Amino acid sequence: MNTVTSHLELRSVSKTYVNGADSVRGISFGAAQGEFVVLVGPSGCGKSTTLRMIAGLEEITGGDIFIAGKRVNDLHPKDRDVAMVFQNYALYPHLTVYENIAFPLTIRKTDKATVDREVRAATELLAITKHLDRKPKELSGGERQRVALGRAIVRKPQVFLFDEPLSNLDAALRTEMRVELKALQRRLGTTMVYVTHDQTEAMTMGDKIVVMNKGQIEQTATPRAIYDEPATAFVARFLGAPTINMIAGTVDAATKTFSSNGFSVDLSELGAKAGGEVILGVRPEHLRPGRVQTADAHSIVGEVELVERLGSATYCHIGCAFAERGRLALTLRPDDDVPNIGDRIAVVPTSRGLHLFDAASGLRIL
Ligand code: ADP
Repeated sequence: MNTVTSHLELRSVSKTYVNGADSVRGISFGAAQGEFVVLVGPSGCGKSTTLRMIAGLEEITGGDIFIAGKRVNDLHPKDRDVAMVFQNYALYPHLTVYENIAFPLTIRKTDKATVDREVRAATELLAITKHLDRKPKELSGGERQRVALGRAIVRKPQVFLFDEPLSNLDAALRTEMRVELKALQRRLGTTMVYVTHDQTEAMTMGDKIVVMNKGQIEQTATPRAIYDEPATAFVARFLGAPTINMIAGTVDAATKTFSSNGFSVDLSELGAKAGGEVILGVRPEHLRPGRVQTADAHSIVGEVELVERLGSATYCHIGCAFAERGRLALTLRPDDDVPNIGDRIAVVPTSRGLHLFDAASGLRIL
C-alpha cells in the first residue's frame, strides 16, 4: 500500500446505495494540511454523498478514507475528528447561542472554564459575542450560519466539512460570508472540504477544486488551471460565465486548421496533435468584435440578439447557428463600441485562449 501523504485522502472511494444507484464511482483526491478543497458539480453528481462518506454519515461501499494518516472507514462519525456544517445550520431551537456553540464540548463533559474560554474565543472570532443569550429564531440567516460555524470551531477538528453552507443566504450576504469564511480558514489553518454547485464560490474560495460529474472526477486542479486549462469539455462548460463558446468542427491533420461551416482557425502554432472531429472552445473574453465589411473566413458574422450590461462588464450575444446553443457570447472591453440588438457584427477569436476537445471523448487536445 502507498503511504498516505495528504492530511485527508480518498482512495478509489465508491458508493452504491441499496437501491442500486452508483452515486460515487471510485474517486480519489487529497487535501493537504490547511488546504481548502472545493467539491463542485451539477446537482446529483455525488458531492454530498462524498462529503457524508468522509464524515462517516454514509457507509462507503469501496475504497479507503484516511484522516491524519489514519484509515477511518470503520470509525464512527464522532471518532473521525471532523466537524460538519450543514446548509440548514441544524441548530437546537430551544438552546441559546452560547449553549448551541458549547454543545459539542458539553456532551464531552469538558470542564466549565474550558467551555467558556472556547465559546468566547469562537464567538469573538465570528463577531457574534453580543448575541450569546439569544435563541436561533432571534437571529438573521447570516448570524445562524456563524453560530453553526462556532459550534464546529470549538471542536478543533482535523477537518471541517461544509455542505452548501451559504445556499440559504441572500446574494449580498453570500458574497460577504464567502470572504469571511475564506479569511477564517486562513486564520484557523484547518483543512476544509467544501461542497457547492456555485462556480463563483468554487473559483473564489478553493485552493483546489475537484470537479465532479456523474459520480466521477473530471478534474482536480487550482481554480486558475481549471479555468485556463480545463481537462474536459464538461469542465470548460461548467466553470465560467457567460458559458464558454463551443463550436463543433474538424481539424485537418495536414494543415492543422480547424474548420466549421466556412469558419476556420489556424492551429499550427499551437501544435494541435491530432486531426478529426473536435470541439473548439473559446471563452467570451477571447472573442473580439470586428468589422463586418472586412470579415473573412477567420471571423463569424452574426446578429446581436442580446446585450447584457452588468456595470462592471458588458456581454454581447450574437446568433450563430453552428455554435452550441445557437449563439456566441463575447465580453466587450471598456473602450469597445456597444452594438444594438439587431446589428450585424463580426467576431474573431484571439490566438491565445483557444481550447480544443476531442468530440467523442470530450478530452482536452490543446
Ligand atoms: P449532489 O450532492 O452532487 O447533488 P448527491 O450526493 O446528493 O449529489 O446524490 C448523488 C446521487 O445519489 C443522486 O443520483 C441521488 O439521487 C443519489 N442519492 C443520494 N442519496 C441517496 C440515498 N439516500 N439513497 C439512494 N440514492 C441516493
